[in-house]
Amino acid sequence: MTTVIELEAAAMSNTGQVRKSNEDSFGTFEPEEPSELAEKGALYIVADGMGGHRGGEVASNLAVETIRAHYYSSTDQDPSTALVDAFNAANRAIHEKAVSDNTLFGMGTTCTAMVVRGEKAYFAHVGDSRAYLFRKGKLQQVTEDHSLVGEMLRSGMISREDARVHPQRNVITRSLGVQQAIQPYIPPVPYDIEDGDVFLLCSDGLTALVIEDDIVSALELYNSHEACRRLIDLANQRGGIDNITVQIIEVRKR
Ligand code: CA
Repeated sequence: MTTVIELEAAAMSNTGQVRKSNEDSFGTFEPEEPSELAEKGALYIVADGMGGHRGGEVASNLAVETIRAHYYSSTDQDPSTALVDAFNAANRAIHEKAVSDNTLFGMGTTCTAMVVRGEKAYFAHVGDSRAYLFRKGKLQQVTEDHSLVGEMLRSGMISREDARVHPQRNVITRSLGVQQAIQPYIPPVPYDIEDGDVFLLCSDGLTALVIEDDIVSALELYNSHEACRRLIDLANQRGGIDNITVQIIEVRKR
C-alpha cells in the first residue's frame, strides 16, 4: 500500500500600514509532472528583502527565482544538499547584481525554504523569517532566527518577551546577497510528516505583531487560505509596521 501525501498551500503578502512598497517575496512551486513531484517534491519559499530604493524587492525576488531554478535543475538526490546549493547560488546572484548596480548596492534578503518530498519535509534558512510546524495543537519553530536578539535569546541573555521589544530587534546576522559566503541553517534531520501537520512560513512583519497563541488560534479555526488572511489582518490591526507575508501548507497523509 502506498502512502499518498496531499498538500494544500495558500500564500499571501501585504505591504502593511507603514511601508510604501512590499519588499517581501514568496514562491509556491508544486510540479504538475508526477515524476518531477516524486523526485524533487514541492518547494515553498518566503523571502524578506532589504536595501534602499528597490533593492529589497529585487533581492527577495531574485532569491525566490534563483532557488527555484537551481533546486529543480539540481541532480543532487538529497533535498537538503540541493537546497544549500540553491541558497549559495542565490547568494552569489544577489551579491553580483548588488555590486554591479549602484542603485542596488548593499541589498540582501532573508530566506526560508521548505521542500516536501515523499513523507519528509526539508528546510533551509537564513535571516529572521521563520518556519513553524503546527502538530497536534502545538506550535514549534523549525528555524532559528539569525538576528542579534535571536542570538541573545539562544544564549540566555534575554527572555522571549525582551526579544519582541528589543530596540535592536531588526539587526540581522545572516542574509543572502550581503556577503561572499553564507551558511544556511538546516535542521539536523528532515521532519517526518504526520497526517494533519500544518507548516507556516512567514516574514518578521507577522511575528513582530502576532504572537504564537494567535497563530495557533488561526490554524485551529481556519483553512490555509483563510488563516493567511486572518493573520495578515491581525498584523495590520496592530499597526502593520512592516511588510507581512504568510504561507501555510496543510498536509494530509493517506
Ligand atoms: Ca521585514
